[in-house]
Amino acid sequence: MVEVKKSLCGGCLFGFACPILAYVDGDRILKIEPDPISHTDYPARCERLKLWPNLNEIILRHPKRLNYPLKRVGNRGEGKWERITWEQAIEEIAEKLKEIIENYGPEAIALAQGSVYGDMDIGQHRFQCLLGTPNAWFEGKQCGGARFPIEIAMYGYITFLGIPIPGKTGCIVFWGGSPSEWPNRQWFERVLVCRASGTKIICIDPRPTSEASLSDLWLQIRPGSDAALAMAFLNVIIEEELYDKEFVQKYTLGFDRLREAVKEMPPEKASKITWVPKDKIIEAARIIGSHKPVCWGGGGDYITTNHLGPATSVFSYYFYALVSLTGLDEEGGMYLYKNMENYGCAYGKYVAMWKYLCEHPRRKRDTVGSEIYPIGSCRAWMKYYEAMKEVEPYGFECQYLTMPSHTAVVDAILTGKPYPIKALISQAGGLSSFSLGRLIKALKSSNLELFVVMDIFPTPFTALADYVLPAAHTVEKDSLMTFNGLVFFIHGGERAVQPLFERHDDYDLWRDLGRRLGLDMPDKEKMFDMLLEPTGMKFREFVEKKRYYFPPLQWRKYEKRLATRSGKIEYVPSVLEELIGKGAFPPQYEEPAWSPSKNPILAKEYNLILTSRGRKWPYIHTGGRWLTEFRQMYPWPLCEMNPEDAKDRGIAHGDWVFIETPVGKILSKAFISPAMLRGVVAADTFWYLPEEGEESLYGLLKYNFNALIPDGYEYTDRISGTLPYRGLLCKVYKAAETEVQTVVK
Ligand code: SF4
Repeated sequence: MVEVKKSLCGGCLFGFACPILAYVDGDRILKIEPDPISHTDYPARCERLKLWPNLNEIILRHPKRLNYPLKRVGNRGEGKWERITWEQAIEEIAEKLKEIIENYGPEAIALAQGSVYGDMDIGQHRFQCLLGTPNAWFEGKQCGGARFPIEIAMYGYITFLGIPIPGKTGCIVFWGGSPSEWPNRQWFERVLVCRASGTKIICIDPRPTSEASLSDLWLQIRPGSDAALAMAFLNVIIEEELYDKEFVQKYTLGFDRLREAVKEMPPEKASKITWVPKDKIIEAARIIGSHKPVCWGGGGDYITTNHLGPATSVFSYYFYALVSLTGLDEEGGMYLYKNMENYGCAYGKYVAMWKYLCEHPRRKRDTVGSEIYPIGSCRAWMKYYEAMKEVEPYGFECQYLTMPSHTAVVDAILTGKPYPIKALISQAGGLSSFSLGRLIKALKSSNLELFVVMDIFPTPFTALADYVLPAAHTVEKDSLMTFNGLVFFIHGGERAVQPLFERHDDYDLWRDLGRRLGLDMPDKEKMFDMLLEPTGMKFREFVEKKRYYFPPLQWRKYEKRLATRSGKIEYVPSVLEELIGKGAFPPQYEEPAWSPSKNPILAKEYNLILTSRGRKWPYIHTGGRWLTEFRQMYPWPLCEMNPEDAKDRGIAHGDWVFIETPVGKILSKAFISPAMLRGVVAADTFWYLPEEGEESLYGLLKYNFNALIPDGYEYTDRISGTLPYRGLLCKVYKAAETEVQTVVK
């Protein structure tokens, strides 16, 4: 009998998850349609579903899905497994966790979460807070670990996703990001509508992207020099008085310090650093300053320049100063996100219980690395909390303020300093953004006594695990999408089908382990009911009648009070001054980890600037590599380069090449792109090749960009420890036939 389920689509392999009506017969999804009561008709217009209408079924029944719990019987990575029951897996993992807590404390347990293909944050965060370990993170550590803490210190809130509105948005600036490459293109469609209505578009990117082709002005920047460009924009906007003086006077503090700092970066100087012609810098600054409100790209990767190692927080500071002067929280610009209580979800009360964690009686130590990187740490969270508690009683909800640096996590496993991490539980590729060489060493080390991975497909990390647990995908579970507390709406759906085989809901891992450890972990539906308290509805009623909660937006929140200590925008953020020391802000311009001016000798051999290409449709992060449908469309990792750079090296379009940095080399296919900025190479990220086999970790170290990035304190962002993926130095050369024959079959 065919039933209609009010479910969520899992075709993006990410948390976008559009609400759908799923027509289901037993465990088969026959077709999906938009739910008329939802906020979007996107399933009907979705390009992925036009190409692969049965995409959810493809993922649901894929022959390589993980279906049963497995326990390692050989050495880590040897590929020898024993099938066990869930009961046995939970029992053994819980016993080991108890032993580790007994011997080393709860801080010795680390929790990782990767791409959000569901609502896995809900279980993980609650478990973390009740257990008392500060050492947990999600993939966002790398994308927002430096920038959001600066933004929150400056405004009290974040502006994660701007809201372009035709007729209102004056200008959209894409700075390194490509929303056209997101698996779900709804936001990008808004950009196209705005452009048709006269919104100016500026693109800052060395690569010829779709966004560049749409733009009124395209600035091809040297990767890694972005802070100089942001400073020069501010220099022109302030010098030419293209900002709202009344706004500055009424709602900001420390503007004079900002003005003095950017005097150091006139357009002439910035042009030499960034390779962008001076006239273009001035023209862009004038467009930005005179077309407010400005929407600065959109979404998690709108600043793909947030991976610059030591230069990351410097850039973030000047970028958010720019945001503040170009129509912050004005309709059609960058919306300031409040906590989720305002958007129908008691997230801070029941999930992001950071205050409870910070005051947890069992927690004796702060995050590993917190003695070097003040962000993230419990110490930092409490400072921010003290500043914002009057207007945000649960403090900042998203995990950004507490997440440890990847470098420190690896150190803690390998050296036991400042204290050991002995167990690691990872869901959905939560280790994909580490520097790979040292990470693999740490995961193979006997110092790590327990390594558990839960996922939907095998990955290089399941290959190294002690226990592999099969996860249910979006259509196989009830979901309430909260995006780690980052958004201003929630949406939910019921499972379309029961989980196949022995796949489990991610939440249930935390519930079952938590209960064994004596933690108060309710069933998922009860948890959802609790979270939906602000809506006055229970989960089932919410799904039946509402589907999403998206209250009217409240713009211009600065007119009342912002969630900073002063209630105003602070250009010398008091919270950060307390954490880092006086005089740290405004910061001085800094080059990335490796650059021609900082490392001239290295730059002679490694004579190209390396940047990463970010998201590439149809993939999202590491997701989708097992799908033949995606691989037929986009079979290999690519590296984009200028024809002259390629010719100099005897490289033709489609050749296999090595990209090499001082720490590693990977294989990639040359993609010769006439409009690419000369001297720059942009390489694909997130690759592994399933056909390379489990014992080689699916070719992780052979194809994955992260094998190229350095790890160590000198290469990371000074305040948050985020790693460098952009603005590095590399050389590129043709690979010999023998070196690629395992690839080209
Ligand atoms: S955008 Fe993604 S989640 Fe939405 S309908 Fe398309 S595949 Fe499904």
